[in-house]
Amino acid sequence: MAKLGYDDTPMLPDSQWQVHDYRRPQPPVITPAAEPGLPPADAIVLFDGSGLSGWTGREGEAKWKVENGYMEVVPGTGDIVSVERMGDCQLHVEFASPREVKGESQGRGNSGVFMMGLYEIQVLDGYENPTYADGITASVYGEFPPLVNACRKPGEWQTYDIVWTAPRFNGVELVSPAYLTLLHNGVVVHNHAELIGPTGHRNVHPYTAHAPFGPLKLQDHGDLVRFRNIWYRPLAQ
Ligand code: MG
Repeated sequence: MAKLGYDDTPMLPDSQWQVHDYRRPQPPVITPAAEPGLPPADAIVLFDGSGLSGWTGREGEAKWKVENGYMEVVPGTGDIVSVERMGDCQLHVEFASPREVKGESQGRGNSGVFMMGLYEIQVLDGYENPTYADGITASVYGEFPPLVNACRKPGEWQTYDIVWTAPRFNGVELVSPAYLTLLHNGVVVHNHAELIGPTGHRNVHPYTAHAPFGPLKLQDHGDLVRFRNIWYRPLAQ
């Protein structure tokens, strides 16, 4: 077979490869999902609607309700965390705010997707529901509002597609911060945002050294928020 490239081309900067190098390894072949949003073949599924075996709650067992392919917060039972630990990754999460609209501002359809258990991407019913900008749906809570409010109506399924770069530490020193790119319902709402540190309520938290991998945490904020179809793909780090 003829060479599928060249060996008489310039070296690429900061690379061991030449332009169109025939020796350069091919990317692995994976089978993508049949439909957008479903897990591709190399994804690790965290929740497929069948149960909460991959999750733990405050007293061990995750006590949220599972029915019809989704999980729903059971208020008072506490946050739940994944058994899986994630570092750099692509993450897909679907959620729905309660169809019955109750409360206002932060009291309407509040939950959260916490990367590594520490960095909250706000889940809220942000459809025609004014609140502070850095607390609306798809905000990095208390740090950055989303670029736009792309909320669907209460009760409709919505998507978060996240590209996450974990922070790096050398001992107790921060080497590089966390970065987040987020698509909400297919719309870019954070483009490689540099996080200030772990998120908090009425507070600014500096980075504190932690493990390179951490769980996904979903928040019980007392509202009947639903989640389904949660999967991730580790990215090389
Ligand atoms: Mg929240």
